[in-house]
Amino acid sequence: MTAQIIDGTALSARIRAELKTRVAKLTQQGRRPGLAVVLVGDNPASRIYVRNKIKACGDTGIHSELYELPASAAEAEVLDRIRALNADPKIHGILVQLPLPRQVSEQKVLETIAVAKDVDGFHVQNVGSLVVGRPGFASCTPAGCMAMLDSVGAVLEGKEAVVVGRSNIVGKPMAIMLLNRSATVTICTSKTRELAGHTRRADILVVATGKPRMVTGDMIKPGAIVIDVGINRLPDGKLCGDVDFESAREKAAWITPVPGGVGPMTITMLLSNAVLAAERC
Ligand code: NDP
Repeated sequence: MTAQIIDGTALSARIRAELKTRVAKLTQQGRRPGLAVVLVGDNPASRIYVRNKIKACGDTGIHSELYELPASAAEAEVLDRIRALNADPKIHGILVQLPLPRQVSEQKVLETIAVAKDVDGFHVQNVGSLVVGRPGFASCTPAGCMAMLDSVGAVLEGKEAVVVGRSNIVGKPMAIMLLNRSATVTICTSKTRELAGHTRRADILVVATGKPRMVTGDMIKPGAIVIDVGINRLPDGKLCGDVDFESAREKAAWITPVPGGVGPMTITMLLSNAVLAAERC
């Protein structure tokens, strides 16, 4: 079996076209969605992510503002910036690019963002809303994975879903989203014994470990849907996922590529949350 590709770039383009229409309508009503991005320090990867997010806003008609603070910025300075943005009516969504410099507490920063403007879905209240199934903002990367599953008509109810990785921004919310759709969910971590024994049972396999190509074809159930969240830069400069694409595609029914899979969907879900935030105003 050679897997069909779940094309994140094409799906993103379709969703962004719909978002553009919603943005145009809001703008006509005098409620143009606005996203503020706060970048602290000069991490080159963060700079690229921020640039891509700002560009995506422009392409969709969303107003965006970038606030750059030096790597030496005091925590109070970052928190003051967030409080000012919380009070700014032009801004519907606030995103603080992670990671932050050591002297700035990630937890304090994320919890200072107004819940109604937390378009990354990292505030503990939005995480809680996800857990109990209430409306809020869902974390963008797992929301993008869910949209990809839905785009191929994946039935989740009663299926075995295995999530490899338990980070707060990907693995845990992903597992909750699958559980909320009545999948039987297993979460694997670096401490899991016999990882392959779990992954081989998965009808839906989501991998988010940051370990290049660690899940290989022999660890995949024939006919599974494989979502590869990983983005790793190889020594030759090329990007690869946490799944070994070539061997995995011989076993899976559907698979996401890297690049062009989950990556573009994450930004699309951010735009979607920003539009939703403006619509809720
Ligand atoms: P973290 O480093 O925060 O978490 C990695 C998780 O993987 C941990 O829970 C860790 O377990 C687990 N893990 C590590 N090694 C193994 C192993 N051998 N077997 C099983 N589990 C393992 O990473 P993130 O969740 O932030 O990111 C994961 C990947 O996704 C990265 O490649 C990142 O670049 C990518 N990413 C992509 C995004 C996108 O838009 N496509 C967005 C965000 C991330 P333990 O908890 O026990 O240490």
